[in-house]
Amino acid sequence: MIHSDAVVIGAGPVGLWTVFELGLLGISCHVVDTLSGPGGQCAALYADKPIYDIPGLPVVSGQGLTQALMRQIEPFQAQFHFGQQIEEVTQVDNVWHLRAKSLGNSAGCAFAARTVFIAGGVGAFVPKAPALDGLHALVGTDVWFEPPSLPVHTAPVRICVLGGEEDAVQYVLALIEGQQPVQVNLLHRRDVFKASPPALQKLESARAAGKVRVIAGQPLRLHTTGQSPQRLTGIDIDTPADDVIALETDMLVILQGLGPKLGPLSRWGLQMARKQLVVDPSTCATSVHGIFAVGDIVDYPGKKKLIVSGFHEATQAAFAAAAQLRPDEAGPLQYTTSSKLLQQRLGVQAPASDT
Ligand SMILES: Cc1cc2nc3c(=O)[nH]c(=O)nc-3n(C[C@H](O)[C@H](O)[C@H](O)COP(=O)(O)OP(=O)(O)OC[C@H]3O[C@@H](n4cnc5c(N)ncnc54)[C@H](O)[C@@H]3O)c2cc1C
Repeated sequence: MIHSDAVVIGAGPVGLWTVFELGLLGISCHVVDTLSGPGGQCAALYADKPIYDIPGLPVVSGQGLTQALMRQIEPFQAQFHFGQQIEEVTQVDNVWHLRAKSLGNSAGCAFAARTVFIAGGVGAFVPKAPALDGLHALVGTDVWFEPPSLPVHTAPVRICVLGGEEDAVQYVLALIEGQQPVQVNLLHRRDVFKASPPALQKLESARAAGKVRVIAGQPLRLHTTGQSPQRLTGIDIDTPADDVIALETDMLVILQGLGPKLGPLSRWGLQMARKQLVVDPSTCATSVHGIFAVGDIVDYPGKKKLIVSGFHEATQAAFAAAAQLRPDEAGPLQYTTSSKLLQQRLGVQAPASDT
């Protein structure tokens, strides 16, 4: 069990700014995100696109803003736990216990904290999966949401790659160019792919040479051995012409990108309205004492889903949490320009003339 003053759920821009505001107030925290790195929507949805409405930065990319925030919070040494989704939040003797599920092969973490900050945005970013009976029971053996390491076989491994964008096309090309004998099928709802021109050109050549079969259609049902442990044997595919193709395959690799899912958040007993967490905008406190929420996930009259609004909410929430965690330490507002304490926490040398 990891003990901490605070746990921040979500490492999007608002979760990262929450780390900063907490750090200035002397509150250390752990940060958990389902993604494999920081940035939330900025990194997952528009890493290379420009943002023009961050104060003091006339233009910055989603990735650039993420990197700048990571630099800015460095002094506070927050511990990050990526690839983990917070599943459960329960209270034991005034302390919040959080249980995370790992999306990889490692074990999920467990946390005990007196305050929780939900900066969950539009939901946890998880791989987009087709709705197929029995799919999740095969994940990690024959179904993968990232390129797996292939078992060493003498007979060709029959692989079906599901996806229509760069990741799927690049993976198919890597399989064809690799050492392992493979039989590759690329499955996408249309015979149109969104990838870089060189990748598309290579895909066309591989198709013409018979190295990959491209199938337009949607997976309809999975076939398995029927014995425990279940193994994948094939997929029925619904084609645009309404035919069903039975494809024999040993492995299904799903590379359809990431999508947000509100998921477990909605089961934590917090007051919600239209899939948003209801907060008091002056403190960003949720309906449950000790749990705060900030950023795109919250709702209050006049809420704007903008990064700059989330930064303000993170500030309000951090001050409210500090008052709760250390009621005896409340003092006048301090400025980073002049406060020795804040400058110490920031790890910067205060000029001698400062008071
Ligand atoms: C294309 C696009 C362009 C945009 N352009 C602008 C712009 O120009 N200016 C602007 O101000 N805003 C813009 N926005 C909106 C802006 O990106 C959001 O307001 C901002 O990302 C919200 O930040 P957040 O930290 O609240 O949430 P997010 O960025 O959504 O991050 C939330 C994180 O929480 C994680 N998470 C959720 N639940 C869990 C859980 N249970 N366990 C673990 N992790 C969890 C998610 O995986 C995610 O990484 C844009 C949005 C899009 C989609």
